[in-house]
Amino acid sequence: MPIRPENVLRYPPDWPEISLAIKERAGWRCECEGECGRGTHPGRCPNVHEGEAYGTGSVVILTTAHLDHTPENVDPANLRAMCQGCHLHYDAGHHAVTRAQTRARALADAGQLAVDIGAAATPVMPPTRPQTLPAAAAPATEQLLLDLPEPLEGTRP
Ligand SMILES: [Zn+2]
Ligand SMILES: [Zn+2]
Repeated sequence: MPIRPENVLRYPPDWPEISLAIKERAGWRCECEGECGRGTHPGRCPNVHEGEAYGTGSVVILTTAHLDHTPENVDPANLRAMCQGCHLHYDAGHHAVTRAQTRARALADAGQLAVDIGAAATPVMPPTRPQTLPAAAAPATEQLLLDLPEPLEGTRP
């Protein structure tokens, strides 16, 4: 995965060598064993660098993924050689989680807001209570409406 411009400074200067070492450790084969969540490769991903990607037949580009999505953490245990398919999917899952957390936070905030509004709206409850009365008193209203046309008709020439 291309390094995002805003993250470029978070990578150590020797990242190219680190990344290379990881790919060599992997024997230039994707090390993903299902972490990507694609569910398309039982066990370890068969994709080999510059080989044909299974499923799509496109050329595999081996990349180095951070399992914790932290560019500064270049501990070999945190790094996995991954084909672009697995890497993108792995990161996409992370972004989905990030988005879900953001959304959950937004919902929590909204919920908080709704609670506040609800509390503020409570004093307004008495005025809303009469609204149930018209429903019960609907016949009276209808009566009134039915009564009205007659005088109107009567005033017509
Ligand atoms: Zn893979
Ligand atoms: Zn995978």
